[in-house]
Amino acid sequence: MQVGVLAVQGAFAEMEAYWRALGAETFEIRQRSDLDRGMDLLALPGGESTVQGKLMKDLGLFDPLRAKIDGGLPVFATCAGLILLAERIDDPGSRDGTRPEKWFGVLPVTVRRNAYGRQLGSFTTVGTWDGIPDTKMTFIRAPAITAVSDGVEVLSTFEGQPTSVRCRNITAFTWHPELSVR
Ligand code: GLN
Repeated sequence: MQVGVLAVQGAFAEMEAYWRALGAETFEIRQRSDLDRGMDLLALPGGESTVQGKLMKDLGLFDPLRAKIDGGLPVFATCAGLILLAERIDDPGSRDGTRPEKWFGVLPVTVRRNAYGRQLGSFTTVGTWDGIPDTKMTFIRAPAITAVSDGVEVLSTFEGQPTSVRCRNITAFTWHPELSVR
């Protein structure tokens, strides 16, 4: 299995190590020509979603990646990756309550960035993921999923709020599964 890991910013090395530990082959997506390689799954790592979105646009990666996602390529996204996929951003810091730029906008959920606080918002908890108990969940300046549309399957929750979801070809987490499995 070939996993293409978006590697323009953020925790892409951890994402690569995770998929390699699971037996997959990985390659880094840094420029458009990297997309000529076939991939079975696209992994979107944590980091800073605004920076990743801007770099993808500047590097000419954004449109071809969106076409692949629209075409059904399986996607595995954590944290900033989830924010880039979300249809709706609920950002109380912005004037109109929504972020002006919408990134991929393909996952029908609403997310609030930095929902647990900007500096001290990192913590670990243990919960059930998709029926698997005792799963370690590490949150790092994590977003919250504040609403999900029909057709979105909730795979885990924290304090009653969804923390990972599956919809069509996309599985996305507010926390970092890649930091729990070695
Ligand atoms: N706070 C980051 C953002 O808004 C996400 C944090 C992360 O990916 N660990 O993009």
